[in-house]
Amino acid sequence: MSVLQDLRKFVRQHRGCGVLTIHLEPPADTAYSIEIGCRACDTALCCTVDAAAAAWDLTHTDLLLALN
Ligand SMILES: [Zn+2]
Repeated sequence: MSVLQDLRKFVRQHRGCGVLTIHLEPPADTAYSIEIGCRACDTALCCTVDAAAAAWDLTHTDLLLALN
């Protein structure tokens, strides 16, 4: 499973928990550092995502949905 799929899975699993915390580091040379946490479950996923535009678009879309 790719890092991107892990992120999407985490968002889906915890979307209904209430509060997701999302921390994005500005892109380094080739990657974003993304940390997503769920306060309800007291768990977090931290990973580095390749900054390829397509992959970022997919992640960002799901994150926006989670915040709505
Ligand atoms: Zn949760």
